Amino acid sequence: MLDVFFTVDVEIWCDGWNDIDEKFPDAFRRYVYGQTRHGQYGLPHKLDVLDSHGLTGVFFVEPLFSTRFGIEPLAEVVGLLNDGKQEVQLHLHTEWVDESVQPLLGDVASKRQYLRNFNLEEQITLIGAGAKLLHEAGSPPVNAFRAGSFGFNKDTLTALAANGMSFDSSYNASMFGLDSGVLPGAVAVEPVVCEDVFEYPMTVFHDGTGGLRHAQLAACSFRELEGLLWNSLAAERNAFVILSHNFELLNPKKDRADWVMVKRFEKLCRFLDRNRDCFNVRGFDGLSPRVVSEQPEPLSSPRWKTIERLLEQSYRRIYQ
Ligand SMILES: [Zn+2]
Repeated sequence: MLDVFFTVDVEIWCDGWNDIDEKFPDAFRRYVYGQTRHGQYGLPHKLDVLDSHGLTGVFFVEPLFSTRFGIEPLAEVVGLLNDGKQEVQLHLHTEWVDESVQPLLGDVASKRQYLRNFNLEEQITLIGAGAKLLHEAGSPPVNAFRAGSFGFNKDTLTALAANGMSFDSSYNASMFGLDSGVLPGAVAVEPVVCEDVFEYPMTVFHDGTGGLRHAQLAACSFRELEGLLWNSLAAERNAFVILSHNFELLNPKKDRADWVMVKRFEKLCRFLDRNRDCFNVRGFDGLSPRVVSEQPEPLSSPRWKTIERLLEQSYRRIYQ
Protein backbone atom coordinates (compact mmCIF):
# COMPACT_ATOMS: atom_id res chain seq x y z
CA MET A 1 0.00 0.00 0.00
CA LEU A 2 1.36 3.39 -1.01
CA ASP A 3 0.35 6.62 0.77
CA VAL A 4 -0.71 9.15 -1.88
CA PHE A 5 -1.04 12.84 -1.04
CA PHE A 6 -3.12 14.75 -3.58
CA THR A 7 -2.08 18.27 -2.57
CA VAL A 8 -3.73 21.46 -3.77
CA ASP A 9 -2.05 24.82 -3.14
CA VAL A 10 -4.87 27.32 -2.70
CA GLU A 11 -3.96 30.91 -3.48
CA ILE A 12 -5.35 34.10 -4.96
CA TRP A 13 -3.44 36.56 -7.12
CA CYS A 14 -4.45 39.98 -8.36
CA ASP A 15 -2.23 39.61 -11.45
CA GLY A 16 0.21 42.34 -10.37
CA TRP A 17 0.50 44.56 -7.31
CA ASN A 18 -1.10 47.81 -8.53
CA ASP A 19 -4.68 48.65 -7.48
CA ILE A 20 -5.02 45.36 -5.66
CA ASP A 21 -7.89 46.60 -3.47
CA GLU A 22 -10.02 47.25 -6.56
CA LYS A 23 -8.90 44.05 -8.27
CA PHE A 24 -9.31 41.68 -5.33
CA PRO A 25 -13.09 40.92 -5.45
CA ASP A 26 -12.91 39.83 -9.09
CA ALA A 27 -9.64 37.94 -8.53
CA PHE A 28 -11.21 36.11 -5.58
CA ARG A 29 -14.20 35.00 -7.66
CA ARG A 30 -12.03 33.81 -10.54
CA TYR A 31 -9.38 32.01 -8.48
CA VAL A 32 -11.69 30.46 -5.88
CA TYR A 33 -14.90 29.75 -7.83
CA GLY A 34 -13.80 29.97 -11.46
CA GLN A 35 -17.29 30.64 -12.83
CA THR A 36 -17.65 29.57 -16.48
CA ARG A 37 -20.59 29.04 -18.84
CA HIS A 38 -20.54 25.37 -17.83
CA GLY A 39 -20.18 25.71 -14.06
CA GLN A 40 -17.65 26.60 -11.39
CA TYR A 41 -14.31 25.06 -12.28
CA GLY A 42 -12.26 26.50 -9.40
CA LEU A 43 -12.54 24.85 -6.00
CA PRO A 44 -16.22 23.75 -6.33
CA HIS A 45 -15.60 21.33 -9.22
CA LYS A 46 -12.46 19.96 -7.62
CA LEU A 47 -14.32 19.31 -4.39
CA ASP A 48 -17.23 17.66 -6.24
CA VAL A 49 -14.97 15.24 -8.10
CA LEU A 50 -12.97 14.32 -4.99
CA ASP A 51 -16.23 13.80 -3.09
CA SER A 52 -17.81 11.67 -5.82
CA HIS A 53 -14.79 9.34 -5.62
CA GLY A 54 -14.57 9.40 -1.80
CA LEU A 55 -11.07 10.90 -1.85
CA THR A 56 -9.45 13.26 0.68
CA GLY A 57 -6.99 15.81 -0.63
CA VAL A 58 -4.63 18.09 1.27
CA PHE A 59 -5.43 21.75 0.63
CA PHE A 60 -2.48 23.96 1.53
CA VAL A 61 -4.28 27.29 1.95
CA GLU A 62 -2.45 30.63 1.63
CA PRO A 63 -3.84 32.94 4.37
CA LEU A 64 -1.58 36.03 4.28
CA PHE A 65 -3.75 37.79 1.68
CA SER A 66 -6.33 38.19 4.45
CA THR A 67 -4.01 40.59 6.33
CA ARG A 68 -4.84 43.00 3.50
CA PHE A 69 -8.44 42.16 2.60
CA GLY A 70 -9.89 40.86 5.88
CA ILE A 71 -10.64 37.43 7.33
CA GLU A 72 -14.03 36.93 5.60
CA PRO A 73 -12.72 35.82 2.18
CA LEU A 74 -10.33 33.40 3.88
CA ALA A 75 -13.20 32.08 6.01
CA GLU A 76 -15.17 31.53 2.80
CA VAL A 77 -12.35 29.39 1.33
CA VAL A 78 -11.92 27.41 4.55
CA GLY A 79 -15.72 26.97 4.73
CA LEU A 80 -15.81 25.45 1.23
CA LEU A 81 -13.05 23.00 2.20
CA ASN A 82 -14.62 22.11 5.55
CA ASP A 83 -17.98 21.50 3.84
CA GLY A 84 -16.18 19.35 1.25
CA LYS A 85 -14.59 17.31 4.09
CA GLN A 86 -11.10 18.03 2.79
CA GLU A 87 -7.98 18.61 4.85
CA VAL A 88 -6.83 22.21 5.35
CA GLN A 89 -3.11 22.83 5.87
CA LEU A 90 -0.87 25.90 5.70
CA HIS A 91 0.74 27.48 2.62
CA LEU A 92 2.55 30.85 2.77
CA HIS A 93 3.32 33.26 -0.05
CA THR A 94 5.56 35.89 1.46
CA GLU A 95 4.83 38.26 -1.45
CA TRP A 96 1.90 39.39 0.74
CA VAL A 97 4.05 40.41 3.73
CA ASP A 98 4.67 44.01 2.59
CA GLU A 99 1.00 44.39 1.53
CA SER A 100 -0.38 43.71 5.01
CA VAL A 101 -2.45 46.49 6.62
CA GLN A 102 -1.16 45.48 10.06
CA PRO A 103 2.60 44.86 9.68
CA LEU A 104 3.42 41.18 10.18
CA LEU A 105 7.10 41.94 10.72
CA GLY A 106 8.98 45.08 11.71
CA ASP A 107 10.84 46.26 8.64
CA VAL A 108 9.61 44.74 5.39
CA ALA A 109 9.24 47.56 2.88
CA SER A 110 9.66 45.57 -0.34
CA LYS A 111 8.86 42.17 -1.80
CA ARG A 112 10.73 39.11 -0.59
CA GLN A 113 9.37 36.34 -2.77
CA TYR A 114 10.42 33.28 -0.84
CA LEU A 115 10.18 32.25 2.79
CA ARG A 116 13.89 31.37 2.60
CA ASN A 117 14.58 35.10 2.21
CA PHE A 118 13.55 35.57 5.87
CA ASN A 119 15.66 34.68 8.91
CA LEU A 120 14.65 32.04 11.42
CA GLU A 121 12.92 34.45 13.83
CA GLU A 122 10.94 35.99 10.99
CA GLN A 123 9.95 32.55 9.66
CA ILE A 124 8.74 31.54 13.13
CA THR A 125 6.59 34.70 13.26
CA LEU A 126 5.16 34.27 9.74
CA ILE A 127 4.30 30.58 10.16
CA GLY A 128 2.68 31.34 13.52
CA ALA A 129 0.69 34.20 11.99
CA GLY A 130 -0.46 32.01 9.08
CA ALA A 131 -1.62 29.19 11.36
CA LYS A 132 -3.49 31.71 13.55
CA LEU A 133 -5.26 33.22 10.55
CA LEU A 134 -6.41 29.78 9.34
CA HIS A 135 -7.69 29.02 12.83
CA GLU A 136 -9.58 32.34 12.96
CA ALA A 137 -11.05 31.49 9.56
CA GLY A 138 -12.53 28.26 10.93
CA SER A 139 -9.89 25.67 10.07
CA PRO A 140 -9.22 22.74 12.38
CA PRO A 141 -5.64 22.83 13.78
CA VAL A 142 -3.02 22.46 11.04
CA ASN A 143 0.01 20.17 11.31
CA ALA A 144 1.52 20.39 7.81
CA PHE A 145 3.06 23.14 5.72
CA ARG A 146 4.23 24.02 2.23
CA ALA A 147 6.25 27.14 1.42
CA GLY A 148 5.05 29.22 -1.55
CA SER A 149 6.92 28.30 -4.75
CA PHE A 150 8.71 25.64 -2.64
CA GLY A 151 11.02 28.49 -1.49
CA PHE A 152 11.95 27.03 1.90
CA ASN A 153 15.20 26.16 3.67
CA LYS A 154 16.30 24.19 6.72
CA ASP A 155 15.32 27.12 9.00
CA THR A 156 11.72 26.61 7.84
CA LEU A 157 11.69 23.19 9.48
CA THR A 158 13.04 24.64 12.74
CA ALA A 159 10.37 27.35 12.53
CA LEU A 160 7.65 24.72 11.99
CA ALA A 161 8.83 22.73 15.01
CA ALA A 162 8.80 25.95 17.07
CA ASN A 163 5.15 26.35 16.05
CA GLY A 164 4.31 22.76 16.99
CA MET A 165 3.89 21.58 13.40
CA SER A 166 5.03 18.07 12.49
CA PHE A 167 5.00 17.82 8.68
CA ASP A 168 6.45 19.76 5.78
CA SER A 169 6.05 19.23 2.06
CA SER A 170 8.21 22.07 0.70
CA TYR A 171 11.16 20.01 -0.49
CA ASN A 172 11.15 19.86 -4.27
CA ALA A 173 14.28 18.48 -5.88
CA SER A 174 13.36 20.18 -9.18
CA MET A 175 13.30 23.61 -7.47
CA PHE A 176 14.99 24.74 -4.20
CA GLY A 177 15.29 21.34 -2.49
CA LEU A 178 18.92 20.63 -3.28
CA ASP A 179 20.28 23.83 -1.72
CA SER A 180 17.76 23.99 1.15
CA GLY A 181 20.20 22.55 3.67
CA VAL A 182 17.97 19.50 4.12
CA LEU A 183 19.92 16.30 3.41
CA PRO A 184 22.94 18.11 1.89
CA GLY A 185 24.59 16.16 -0.92
CA ALA A 186 21.54 13.92 -1.46
CA VAL A 187 18.28 14.13 -3.39
CA ALA A 188 15.30 13.64 -1.07
CA VAL A 189 12.48 11.74 -2.76
CA GLU A 190 11.10 9.84 0.23
CA PRO A 191 10.00 11.03 3.71
CA VAL A 192 12.85 11.95 6.01
CA VAL A 193 13.07 13.50 9.47
CA CYS A 194 14.97 16.79 9.80
CA GLU A 195 14.97 19.34 12.67
CA ASP A 196 12.22 17.28 14.38
CA VAL A 197 9.89 17.69 11.40
CA PHE A 198 8.87 14.98 8.94
CA GLU A 199 9.66 16.16 5.45
CA TYR A 200 7.43 14.72 2.71
CA PRO A 201 9.21 15.72 -0.51
CA MET A 202 7.35 16.40 -3.75
CA THR A 203 7.50 13.35 -5.98
CA VAL A 204 9.94 14.03 -8.82
CA PHE A 205 10.97 11.93 -11.78
CA HIS A 206 13.28 11.76 -14.78
CA ASP A 207 11.29 12.20 -18.00
CA GLY A 208 14.15 11.54 -20.38
CA THR A 209 14.86 15.20 -21.19
CA GLY A 210 17.67 15.71 -18.68
CA GLY A 211 16.36 17.32 -15.48
CA LEU A 212 13.94 16.28 -12.81
CA ARG A 213 10.24 17.09 -13.09
CA HIS A 214 7.72 17.23 -10.26
CA ALA A 215 4.45 15.30 -10.29
CA GLN A 216 2.02 18.13 -10.99
CA LEU A 217 -1.46 17.55 -12.39
CA ALA A 218 -1.09 20.39 -14.92
CA ALA A 219 2.41 19.40 -15.96
CA CYS A 220 2.17 15.62 -16.41
CA SER A 221 -0.14 13.50 -18.51
CA PHE A 222 -2.49 11.01 -16.89
CA ARG A 223 -0.43 8.16 -18.33
CA GLU A 224 2.76 9.56 -16.79
CA LEU A 225 1.12 9.87 -13.35
CA GLU A 226 -0.48 6.43 -13.61
CA GLY A 227 2.85 4.80 -14.59
CA LEU A 228 4.74 6.60 -11.83
CA LEU A 229 2.17 5.53 -9.24
CA TRP A 230 2.48 1.87 -10.27
CA ASN A 231 6.30 2.14 -10.31
CA SER A 232 6.29 3.67 -6.81
CA LEU A 233 4.10 0.87 -5.54
CA ALA A 234 6.33 -1.79 -7.13
CA ALA A 235 9.41 -0.11 -5.64
CA GLU A 236 7.72 -0.18 -2.20
CA ARG A 237 7.99 3.57 -1.76
CA ASN A 238 6.36 5.13 1.30
CA ALA A 239 4.79 8.24 -0.18
CA PHE A 240 3.75 9.82 -3.47
CA VAL A 241 3.06 13.57 -3.39
CA ILE A 242 1.12 15.16 -6.28
CA LEU A 243 0.81 18.93 -6.73
CA SER A 244 -2.18 20.86 -8.01
CA HIS A 245 -3.69 24.34 -7.56
CA ASN A 246 -7.19 25.68 -6.98
CA PHE A 247 -7.22 27.23 -10.49
CA GLU A 248 -5.62 24.40 -12.43
CA LEU A 249 -8.78 23.23 -14.22
CA LEU A 250 -9.23 26.68 -15.78
CA ASN A 251 -7.72 28.51 -18.75
CA PRO A 252 -5.18 31.27 -17.96
CA LYS A 253 -7.93 33.96 -17.90
CA LYS A 254 -9.94 31.72 -15.57
CA ASP A 255 -13.19 32.23 -17.42
CA ARG A 256 -13.35 28.84 -19.22
CA ALA A 257 -12.74 25.27 -18.22
CA ASP A 258 -9.60 23.61 -19.60
CA TRP A 259 -11.20 20.37 -20.75
CA VAL A 260 -7.92 18.47 -21.07
CA MET A 261 -7.26 19.24 -17.41
CA VAL A 262 -10.83 18.50 -16.32
CA LYS A 263 -10.66 15.06 -17.98
CA ARG A 264 -7.17 14.37 -16.62
CA PHE A 265 -8.29 15.15 -13.08
CA GLU A 266 -11.41 13.01 -13.41
CA LYS A 267 -9.33 10.12 -14.78
CA LEU A 268 -6.82 10.37 -11.96
CA CYS A 269 -9.54 10.37 -9.30
CA ARG A 270 -11.31 7.43 -10.95
CA PHE A 271 -8.01 5.54 -11.10
CA LEU A 272 -7.21 6.22 -7.42
CA ASP A 273 -10.75 5.29 -6.39
CA ARG A 274 -10.70 2.05 -8.39
CA ASN A 275 -7.27 1.06 -7.04
CA ARG A 276 -7.76 2.01 -3.42
CA ASP A 277 -6.46 -1.39 -2.32
CA CYS A 278 -3.06 -0.23 -3.63
CA PHE A 279 -3.13 3.55 -3.14
CA ASN A 280 -4.15 5.12 0.15
CA VAL A 281 -5.12 8.70 -0.69
CA ARG A 282 -4.87 10.56 2.58
CA GLY A 283 -3.84 13.67 4.51
CA PHE A 284 -1.37 14.44 7.27
CA ASP A 285 -3.96 14.36 10.03
CA GLY A 286 -3.34 11.23 12.13
CA LEU A 287 -0.43 10.16 9.94
CA SER A 288 2.15 7.79 11.43
CA PRO A 289 5.16 8.71 9.31
CA ARG A 290 7.34 6.09 7.72
CA VAL A 291 10.73 7.59 6.96
CA VAL A 292 13.69 6.10 5.12
CA SER A 293 17.29 6.11 6.32
CA GLU A 294 18.67 6.00 2.79
CA GLN A 295 17.16 7.84 -0.17
CA PRO A 296 16.37 5.79 -3.30
CA GLU A 297 16.93 7.12 -6.82
CA PRO A 298 14.17 9.33 -8.27
CA LEU A 299 11.62 7.53 -10.44
CA SER A 300 11.81 7.48 -14.22
CA SER A 301 9.10 7.74 -16.85
CA PRO A 302 9.62 6.48 -20.42
CA ARG A 303 10.42 8.97 -23.17
CA TRP A 304 7.38 8.09 -25.31
CA LYS A 305 5.12 9.27 -22.51
CA THR A 306 7.04 12.56 -22.41
CA ILE A 307 6.45 13.02 -26.14
CA GLU A 308 2.77 12.18 -25.74
CA ARG A 309 2.52 14.76 -22.93
CA LEU A 310 4.21 17.44 -25.05
CA LEU A 311 1.61 16.85 -27.77
CA GLU A 312 -1.21 17.05 -25.24
CA GLN A 313 0.18 20.31 -23.81
CA SER A 314 0.38 21.88 -27.30
CA TYR A 315 -3.25 20.91 -27.86
CA ARG A 316 -4.16 22.66 -24.60
CA ARG A 317 -2.33 25.81 -25.63
CA ILE A 318 -4.10 25.94 -29.00
CA TYR A 319 -7.61 25.32 -27.66
CA GLN A 320 -7.50 27.47 -24.51
ZN1 LIG B 1 1.72 28.61 -3.93
